[in-house]
Amino acid sequence: MELSYILNELGEDRELYYNAVAPPILQTSNFASKTVDDMRRMLLNEAESYLYTRGNNPTVTMFEKKMAALEGAEHAIAFGSGIAAVSAAVLSQLKAGDHVVCIEKPYGWTNVLMNRFLPRFGVEVTMVDGTDTENYRKAMRPNTRLLYLESPNSFTFEQQDIAAVAALAKAHACSTIIDNSFASPLNQNPLLMGVDLVVHSCTKYIGGHSDTMGGVICGSRDLINKIFEREFMTLGAILSPHDAWLLLRGLRTLPVRMERVAETTRKVIAWIEKQEQVEKIYYPFHPSNPQYELAKKQLRNNTGQFTIALKTNDIGKVENFCNSLQHFLMAASWGGHESLIYPAAAYYDKSSNYKGKLDFNLVRFYIGLEDADYLIKDIEQALKQL
Ligand SMILES: *Cc1c(COP(=O)(O)O)cnc(C)c1O
Repeated sequence: MELSYILNELGEDRELYYNAVAPPILQTSNFASKTVDDMRRMLLNEAESYLYTRGNNPTVTMFEKKMAALEGAEHAIAFGSGIAAVSAAVLSQLKAGDHVVCIEKPYGWTNVLMNRFLPRFGVEVTMVDGTDTENYRKAMRPNTRLLYLESPNSFTFEQQDIAAVAALAKAHACSTIIDNSFASPLNQNPLLMGVDLVVHSCTKYIGGHSDTMGGVICGSRDLINKIFEREFMTLGAILSPHDAWLLLRGLRTLPVRMERVAETTRKVIAWIEKQEQVEKIYYPFHPSNPQYELAKKQLRNNTGQFTIALKTNDIGKVENFCNSLQHFLMAASWGGHESLIYPAAAYYDKSSNYKGKLDFNLVRFYIGLEDADYLIKDIEQALKQL
């Protein structure tokens, strides 16, 4: 299916709404039936009916259809946040007594799900360095039911060989789930590499304007319908029709934004790598990345996230640099119009006591839609404050 068709036409039935170009926000909690028989049919197959908005809503369906097509999936189901989608996907594959192998350093709340939440329900989790598929194999047990991936991951961008991990899982009748938020569906399609379920935080690139939150799971119709009947309907973490509409609007410009972000990021990296105050760059597409070849194999293009290690042992200097930036907002998240930094130093207290797994001289960048020169000038003056 062509990208332009997916983003501009798929799932849109304009004749149903006065040929309006922009889709309607069907802000309704429920849908009426004409006859008892109609209602009976819907109750028997709620996954494919418009009965109640905690199940399906036409504005949300439109978004789900586009996301499924972008990931090459049969079906997709949308949630009110990325972590709601991660949690529902993971829970859908497990029961008490099962074991999960998960990459170390996943997204923070995924880590909480794995290490604090699942053990309460009798599920054991082993975290592994996923840069070597062999580590997954070694950690597997007879009761391993799920291999969890996030490639590249969120701060230092380690990758897993997605096809190899998926093949390993298949050979042992395990499921695989990947968090594909980093790449967006334009740059990596893990279902085509054999993964069972792909999850996105739509809060990031898909929304693209830092004004809404959402999540999605993409996969086979069978797996998605099972999630619909169990985790989705009972946990109730739905995407609202209005937020679905904002995400649909975000999708219209996704390719243009991704292109622009990729190009500006390449320019910023080309400048940053020459700065003596920068010790190291974490960036999948940097030749210094030991997984550079894997990046070129799995990812279609670079995105806007990279992390630099500043050449200093003084947390105060790291803070001076971060506090001096004028045009980068200091904030979580990424994928919007605005450039951001996220300093690992924020995990440390004033005496630089160790709080997280990341060194305090690491600063994650996200490059937004501003001009490269405007951003480079800002980094240049902030590096002088080091
Ligand atoms: C932001 C993020 C999430 C969580 O998404 P929310 O929309 O914030 O709930 C999950 N995984 C990754 C990789 C993320 O960056």
